Amino acid sequence: MADGPTEPETPTEAEAGQVPREASAVVTRAASLGLAGVVVCLAAFSIFGAYRMQTQIARAQHEESLHASYARAIIAIRAEDSSVVEYLLDPSLENRTAMDQATYALIDAINAIEVHGGDADSQLAKSVMSVHDRYVAASTRLVAAVVIGDPAEARRIELIDAKPVFDAMRSQIDAAAEARAAAALAAFAEVQATARWLLIESPVVFLIGFSLLFGLWRILEQSHRAARETYREIAQLSKLRSEFVSIVSHEFRTPLTGIQGFSEMMRDENLTIPEMREYAGDINKDARRLARLITDMLDLDRMESGRMTLNSEPVDLNRIVAETAAQFRLNAADHPIELELDTRLRELVGDADRLTQVVTNLLSNAIKYSPTGGAVELRTERAEKTVVLTVTDHGMGIAEEHLEKIFDRYSRLETTETRAIQGTGLGLPIVRQIVQMCSGRVWATSETGRGSVFHVELPLMEAISQGPSAAA
Ligand code: ADP
Repeated sequence: MADGPTEPETPTEAEAGQVPREASAVVTRAASLGLAGVVVCLAAFSIFGAYRMQTQIARAQHEESLHASYARAIIAIRAEDSSVVEYLLDPSLENRTAMDQATYALIDAINAIEVHGGDADSQLAKSVMSVHDRYVAASTRLVAAVVIGDPAEARRIELIDAKPVFDAMRSQIDAAAEARAAAALAAFAEVQATARWLLIESPVVFLIGFSLLFGLWRILEQSHRAARETYREIAQLSKLRSEFVSIVSHEFRTPLTGIQGFSEMMRDENLTIPEMREYAGDINKDARRLARLITDMLDLDRMESGRMTLNSEPVDLNRIVAETAAQFRLNAADHPIELELDTRLRELVGDADRLTQVVTNLLSNAIKYSPTGGAVELRTERAEKTVVLTVTDHGMGIAEEHLEKIFDRYSRLETTETRAIQGTGLGLPIVRQIVQMCSGRVWATSETGRGSVFHVELPLMEAISQGPSAAA
């Protein structure tokens, strides 16, 4: 473990989570726009369909009513013709009135065509009216010839003047009525085609539209969930930051207060050389503690961000355990350290310094959290493909619900017993990171008031991976 602190490395934007959040905002905006776009398209499609249907129905109705006017005109022509014949056979006042009424009915029908029809209809109406005028004049002359008793003249007028004019008028109206009937049929066919198109196309269009809406809604829901997750992470980070600030300020202040106090005494008081040495030793101890704290923080940060790599070298775990225990024995009179090392253990491939850090942190905790003393046992045991290291103490123990949480950063268990014990909440997270980088796993079992056992399982022959694994 290095004593001096290293410069912290600034996290990149990607590490700080900026890019994913921006990307998610872009996705949300795009999905919302897409959603609005699909709704507008569906609405436009419906309005277009309804408008097209409506205009085609109006056109068909118009053609139909025009055709009806022509049909009325044809009926009126026939009626006028037969009323003239009836009057010639019986020139009574009654027949005269019927003849006039038939003439007015025809004029009304022709006027209706002129008013409701287009340019061609009005042209035709004008032409029919002028032919009709000639027909009326011929009929009048015909009636006069009949009245004065000149059948030869009457016959001549009928054949030469009245009949051709009547036939011309009638054929004009017949042809136009036929054209109108065809136009009305075509207009209704168009209405039918549009109705069929709407019936077949609109379910497809709406199906595609609703599928798009559903897809976009799912995207929005996912980004909403991602946003909620981000907020949750931010809240958690904020909580961690507060914990970090309070723990770090407390842990930094304690050694700093010692350094400040001892150095002031050395400056202001007349101390003997042995006293000076003693205070300098205390200052050195506090300074080393500060350095260790900073190193731990930076180590954990580098491991968690994947910026730390491990050495791959042959490692004798039994030797590491024995040497670490020997170091601790020098200052742990109340805690006899007992070893039970499996001699069948072959060498692992690993990073000796980091594995020493694992054993040191676990052994240091076993001693720290057994304030009333008690033996600490270190055991190694070889299994088929793994080796398991256990560190057992007989201290205060850990409540079951905290057995996972203690491996989280800065998670110190606050009890009356632990309050007096110095710590940063970084020892176990570092242990877990190193063990995971060695493709192993670590866990704890414990009984409150009776002690704890920390288990570290490492693969025997496998080379140590360079990044944290999902194990443990
Ligand atoms: P600390 O610097 O606080 O010791 P650690 O990450 O090493 O940080 O441990 C986290 C917490 O887990 C400790 O604050 C302590 O409450 C609990 N803990 C760790 N080891 C033991 C143990 N052997 N016995 C009881 N409690 C322990």
